[in-house]
Amino acid sequence: MTNDLIEKADKVMAATYSRFPIVLTRGEGCTLYDETGGTYTDFVAGIAVCSLGHAHPGVAEAIADQARRLVHVSNLYYTTPQIALAELLVEHSFADRVFFCNSGAEANEAAIKLARKYFKDRGAPKRFRIITMEGSFHGRTMATLSATGQPKIRKGFEPLLDGFDIVPFNDPDAVQDAISAETGGVMVEPIQGEGGVRCPAPGYLEALRELCDREGLLLIFDEVQTGIGRTGKLFAYEHFAITPDIMTLAKALANGLPMGAMLAKEQIAASFTPGSHACTFGGSPLVAVAALKVVKVLLEEGVLRKCERVGRYFKDRLLDLKSKYAFIQDVRGKGLILCLDLDCDAVSIVKACMERGFLINCTQEHILRFIPPLIIQEGQIDSLIACLDAVFQKHSMLHRITK
Ligand SMILES: *Cc1c(COP(=O)(O)O)cnc(C)c1O
Repeated sequence: MTNDLIEKADKVMAATYSRFPIVLTRGEGCTLYDETGGTYTDFVAGIAVCSLGHAHPGVAEAIADQARRLVHVSNLYYTTPQIALAELLVEHSFADRVFFCNSGAEANEAAIKLARKYFKDRGAPKRFRIITMEGSFHGRTMATLSATGQPKIRKGFEPLLDGFDIVPFNDPDAVQDAISAETGGVMVEPIQGEGGVRCPAPGYLEALRELCDREGLLLIFDEVQTGIGRTGKLFAYEHFAITPDIMTLAKALANGLPMGAMLAKEQIAASFTPGSHACTFGGSPLVAVAALKVVKVLLEEGVLRKCERVGRYFKDRLLDLKSKYAFIQDVRGKGLILCLDLDCDAVSIVKACMERGFLINCTQEHILRFIPPLIIQEGQIDSLIACLDAVFQKHSMLHRITK
């Protein structure tokens, strides 16, 4: 059955993904079920998307309710869920206004367009360039892949869109050196997700803020992966004593329904006027009620505090593993975006864990990334650690590289 489905899929679907050979049919909390009855504890959460877990009753109810009421109308009109969501996001962030779209790439496109328009409106039309970081990931559209500091993402799609200058991450001097008369902004992930859970060095983001203030540049935080509770705060920038001028969100915003958002301070958001930007599906009532539920649960039910506490527990267990296995180079992350950086291929480890009933993710070929639902429990973490220990034991016997 599974093999038939996969054979069919591989004939008719664009071959853009190398998928693992399971067909998932159902989820509940942190558990996923495949069509053969196999179960998995999910430490991927749709890549940091399903933060409240699968089939969250409150979110499901909100969606079902709204589906019977009103799924979509054009942004030519107002709808109550969209207004309530924008109000909530503004109330709990640095921002004054929100633009809704459908994905992380779209949110970043909106941010890039807004930055360009902001300087055009100020009589500085040449200041269209944005400085971005090596190892960053901002999306797959032409503008966002051009902004992305990973050659493998850009390769094959040249000529790239002009207007991005890529400098090393965690190096404020490199940003300073890259600033020209054409620079309008600096775009950075507070923690690089796809780049391998690379955290900012102490003072780095603060230095970028200072630099942007001094040079009159816009500071754009791509919080598509770190936002909406992932790091233990609603937004990752809250860990630092600074705020960006523009912030983008997507992934966890609607717990799996496609939704992105671009938030900005009033003075900057003012450059988006009727007709300057739009999105047919953006902020439709159906996705907005899901997002509304997500943000309310995060704020009201202690999920953020739990994320911080369980994240610390998880990280300590990963550090235990590091002290045991020499091929673990580093443990990084905050809240429930964590990783083990290995000095060997990590894909075989991911496969071995899947066979033992755990879904984990690997990025940059050698980094195991853990981005489970924020409702993951210590017991489930213990089970994963035991699984990793067993897999690592076998791995190091094969490679004879224990400490
Ligand atoms: C996933 C991601 C994106 C792209 O989001 P899509 O919804 O896939 O377009 C952009 N930025 C960051 C930091 C991401 O993690």
